[in-house]
Amino acid sequence: MLQQARERTEPWDMIIVGGGATGAGVAVDAATRGYATLLLEQHDFGKGTSSRSTKLVHGGVRYLEQGNVSLVMEALKERGLLRQNAPHLVSELPFIVPSYAWWEGPFYGIGLKVYQMLSGKYGFGPSQLISKEETLRRLPNINPDGLTGGVIYYDGQFDDTRLLINLIATAAEQGATLLNYAKVTGLRKGEDGIVNGVAWENVETGEIFTACAKVVVNATGPFTDSVRHLAEPDAPKLIAPSQGAHLVLDRSFLSGDTAIMVPHTSDGRVMFAIPWHGHTLVGTTDTPMKQVPLEPVALDQEIEFMLETASLYLEKKPSRADILSVFAGIRPLAKSGQGTNTAALSRDHTIHIDQSGLLSIAGGKWTTYRNMAQDGVDQAATLADLPDKPCVTRTLNIHGYHSNAANFGPLSFYGSDAPAIRQLIDEDAALGRQLDVQLPYVEAEVVWAAREEMARTVEDVLARRTRALFLNAKAALRMAPRVAALLARELGCDQKWQADQIEKFNKTAEGYLVRA
Ligand SMILES: Cc1cc2nc3c(=O)[nH]c(=O)nc-3n(C[C@H](O)[C@H](O)[C@H](O)COP(=O)(O)OP(=O)(O)OC[C@H]3O[C@@H](n4cnc5c(N)ncnc54)[C@H](O)[C@@H]3O)c2cc1C
Repeated sequence: MLQQARERTEPWDMIIVGGGATGAGVAVDAATRGYATLLLEQHDFGKGTSSRSTKLVHGGVRYLEQGNVSLVMEALKERGLLRQNAPHLVSELPFIVPSYAWWEGPFYGIGLKVYQMLSGKYGFGPSQLISKEETLRRLPNINPDGLTGGVIYYDGQFDDTRLLINLIATAAEQGATLLNYAKVTGLRKGEDGIVNGVAWENVETGEIFTACAKVVVNATGPFTDSVRHLAEPDAPKLIAPSQGAHLVLDRSFLSGDTAIMVPHTSDGRVMFAIPWHGHTLVGTTDTPMKQVPLEPVALDQEIEFMLETASLYLEKKPSRADILSVFAGIRPLAKSGQGTNTAALSRDHTIHIDQSGLLSIAGGKWTTYRNMAQDGVDQAATLADLPDKPCVTRTLNIHGYHSNAANFGPLSFYGSDAPAIRQLIDEDAALGRQLDVQLPYVEAEVVWAAREEMARTVEDVLARRTRALFLNAKAALRMAPRVAALLARELGCDQKWQADQIEKFNKTAEGYLVRA
C-alpha cells in the first residue's frame, strides 16, 4: 500500500481523509465506480468513533419518537441491505421493552409496530406485546418487582471494527489504496485557491509525502472541523461533539439471548443492555464535549449513571467492581444553532463543501454508512468532474461474506476468511493456543491480523482486530506481552519494540479499567 501511494505520479481521482465507517464506505463506493482512490488514516482504521458504537444496526426507535420518520425508514432499509451484504457480521437480535406501568405495553407496542412496518420488505422479526411470564422467560435476569409484561421487537447487531476491517479489505480488492498510520498534516491548494491535494506523514517513520487529487473528501468524523481548518482556519464549526460511554459486564447479568431496551432514562435517553460476544454491553450516555480526544475516557458521572440505570432493570445489581471494561466514543453530530442538548440533535448526515472545494461528510450512523457514502461520492464526482458511474454498493458483498458463518464457531466473525485461519493452526498447532482463559481468541488471529489485516501494533490487535480490550481490559493486559511477541515475529521487530508496545498498550488500557 505504501509503495502504491508513493509511486503514483498522476493525481488521484479522490483522496479520502479518515478511516472510520464513513471514510471506508466512501473508499468502497469510489473504488467500485472505478475512481482512483487513496484513503489516509492517521492512526489505525476504526481508532475513532467507529470502534466505540453500541454495535447496533438499527433504524433508531428514538428518532421515530422525535418524528424523524424519513431517517428511520432510510436506516431500516440500510439495516436490511447490510444484513444481506455482510451476513457473517450482522445478525437479528430480539429486544424487549419491559413494562412496569399499565400504559407502557400498549404505548410502546404501537410505536414499535410502526417501527416494524416502516422497514417494509427489509423487515426483521415482528414486534408484539408479551406477558410477564414470557418476559421473564426471555430475560431471566430482569428485575421482576412490579413487572407487568413487555414489548418484543427485532433489530440488528454487529461487530463494528470487524465490519470496518472487512470494508477496508473490500475497497482494497476493488483497487483502492488505503493506509493506516498516515496522517494528513496539510491541504494543498492550486493557484485558484481550490484544494488539490494533501501533505501526509508516515507516522511510523516521520516521513512527509504529498499527493494530488481531483477532489479531497474529509471523512474525519469528530475531527471534521480540525481538518477543514487546515484549509480555512476561520471556517465556522460544523460539528457538535457529544460523548457516549458503555460498560461491559459478564454474561451473568443478562444470560439470555435477548436485549433490554429502556426508552426513557431519567435524563431522557435510551439505554440498552445487550448480549455481545458472550458479555453484557450497557450504554449509552450523551455528554456534550468541548474537546475531541482521539482516546476519549468515560467520565465518572457517566459510569455512575449507567450503573444506576442498569440496577433499576437488572435483578443482579452491577457495581464498579463488576465492570470488565468501559469505553467512550464521540458522536460527530451536525451542529444546529447554539443549543447544548446534543441528545436532540439530528442523526442525519451532512455534506458540506467549503469555498476551498474541500468536501466534508459527517454525522449519520454506522448503520447508514453505505447510503452516506453513495451521497458523498455522487457529490464529490460532480465537484471533480469525474465521469458519471453508477453506485453498485447496494448489492455488493462485503469481504468475508458467508451465509453460514455460524458454523465456524468462535471464528464466525471472520466469515469466509475463517478456513484460512484454521489452516494456520493446522500448519502450526501452537497457533491454536488461547491467549487468555477468559476470552476465546487464539494466537493464529494475531498472525492473521498482521499478515492480512494491516495490524501494526498490540493495540490494533487487542482493540480492533479482536475485541479483547473492549470486552475485558484486564484480560487484554494479560494478553499484551504474547501479542507483542507474535507481532514482532511477523513484522520483523526487536525486543525494544516489544517493550515499547506493551508500555503503550498498558497506558491506553488504563482508560478502560474502572477502579472499584
Ligand atoms: C456512543 C456511541 C454509540 C453509537 N452507537 C451506534 C450504533 O449502535 N449504531 C449505529 O449505527 N451508529 C452508532 N453510533 C454512530 C457511529 O458510530 C458513527 O456515526 C460512526 O462511527 C462515525 O464514523 P466516522 O467515520 O464518521 O468517524 P470516525 O470513526 O471517528 O472516523 C474518523 C477518522 O478520521 C481520522 N482522522 C482524523 N484526523 C485525521 C487526519 N488529519 N488524517 C488522517 N485521519 C484523520 C480519525 O483517526 C478517525 O479514525 C454511535 C456513536 C457513538 C459515539
